[in-house]
Amino acid sequence: AAKSMGRSCYRFYKDDMNSSAVELLKMEEELREALVENQLELHYQPLVNSSDGALAGLEALVRWNHPERGMISPGEFIPVAEQTGQIIDLTAWVMKEAIKDCKIWEQAGFADFKISINISALEFNHDDLASHVTDLFDEVDFNKHRVQLELTESAIMTDAQANIKKLSELCDLGVTLAVDDFGTGYSSLSYLRQFPINVLKIDRSFVMGIGTENGNAIVDAITSLAKALHLGLVAEGVETKEQMDYLVASGCDTLQGFYLSRPVPAKSIIGLLTKPFEI
Ligand code: C2E
Ligand code: MG
Ligand code: MG
Ligand code: MG
Repeated sequence: AAKSMGRSCYRFYKDDMNSSAVELLKMEEELREALVENQLELHYQPLVNSSDGALAGLEALVRWNHPERGMISPGEFIPVAEQTGQIIDLTAWVMKEAIKDCKIWEQAGFADFKISINISALEFNHDDLASHVTDLFDEVDFNKHRVQLELTESAIMTDAQANIKKLSELCDLGVTLAVDDFGTGYSSLSYLRQFPINVLKIDRSFVMGIGTENGNAIVDAITSLAKALHLGLVAEGVETKEQMDYLVASGCDTLQGFYLSRPVPAKSIIGLLTKPFEI
């Protein structure tokens, strides 16, 4: 019985593998089409100054408007794009599109905020990231000082020693470097100090903990750490007034989350640029 059970388990496992491999192939093919046929679109979420409610930045968040499945979130297709290597083309598309949008807002008189782009771990590990970014900027003619790249903590802490050089190359381009999802990976404080980074983004899971004794203590600790290292601090996932008030009181520079604004399509941004947010 054990033997036949073993065999049927094996068969089940194998079928499962096949179907996921087929799914992967299918999505790879569809994603290729999506890039060519303009099915991807960017939404933007405001990053807001906690001192005066001014817009500090917009984070570009990609969505896939699939012809049959409707809007697909990046959590579903970014991992596929990483596995297939399509992330390189996807990121190039995101950067060009975001800069195109920024130029439109610039022409309307709004140039006083940063544009934040997510860089996946796989892309960060690519040897030529800095030269990719350089080529891209040569092509689009845009002020690099207005660009913030978001790198996840786990991406930069894996092989940290080698990443000092990598981050320095990016930093030398004049872009701002932010550590995304901070607190969810395993940071070495000694590397954090050596890295030429500018901003920490406290992960949403810690913002959710605000209001409990331990939750508050963790946020306070991250706030102190950012201050001690002279880094800017963004809190992501701010959903309530209570969370916002706590973060403002504890000295967090910048707030981002549904309480201030959900990510919105490019065409709806102008309305958010004309007046400060209420803090
Ligand atoms: P992330 O960079 O940490 O982005 C924040 C995510 O949290 C976004 O989800 C955003 O919509 C969501 N969010 C913001 N405020 C709140 C809030 O108050 N409550 C809740 N529950 N969620 C909030 P989204 O757009 O689904 O993106 C998920 C992840 O996908 C991003 O996490 C990022 O890692 C990745 N991603 C998105 N766009 C891109 C892209 O263009 N390139 C790459 N490489 N990754 C991307
Ligand atoms: Mg991000
Ligand atoms: Mg994040
Ligand atoms: Mg996050």
